Amino acid sequence: MVKMFIESVKNLVSEPETIKYPFEPSPEPKGYRGLIIYNEEFCIFCDKCENICPPGAIKFEVVDVESGKKQYNYNPYLCIYCGACVSVCPKAEEALAQSEKRMPPLGRSIYKEKGLGYFINEINNPKELEKKWGELEIRAKESREKLAEYKKQQRLKKQAAKKQEPSS
Ligand code: SF4
Ligand code: SF4
Repeated sequence: MVKMFIESVKNLVSEPETIKYPFEPSPEPKGYRGLIIYNEEFCIFCDKCENICPPGAIKFEVVDVESGKKQYNYNPYLCIYCGACVSVCPKAEEALAQSEKRMPPLGRSIYKEKGLGYFINEINNPKELEKKWGELEIRAKESREKLAEYKKQQRLKKQAAKKQEPSS
């Protein structure tokens, strides 16, 4: 009897086992394949994540041709959360990791977080998301072409300088 009483009191003060859905979002199950989180500090800019991504949800843009500096951009609304990018990343869990966090639905504002990269953190109007991503895809492609051309010119310059060196 005493045992039953203690158990009843415990149940009265403890958290309910049930979830509060639909009044609160249901929690993600353990191991849920959620948002891809990036950390520039550990990235070696090998592009493997971009190349393997089936829907093209990762794009690197070259922002400085001379130094070859690139910026990581990720579109969580294109992502299919397959985890392929993390599985090929040589710096997995440091530069790129798959969290258990679900992307909130696209509402009046965009969910932002540093680890989501440059693109999503620079968008303010959800209606512009698609257009801006399209623009970024073009910019990223053009920036790669510019980098390739710059490298080619540098090679040619070096070759020309070598030819002009007096032969010993
Ligand atoms: S989880 Fe899959 S779809 Fe999402 S960014 Fe990585 S490779 Fe692309
Ligand atoms: S695969 Fe990893 S190290 Fe390579 S560019 Fe992507 S995040 Fe950076």
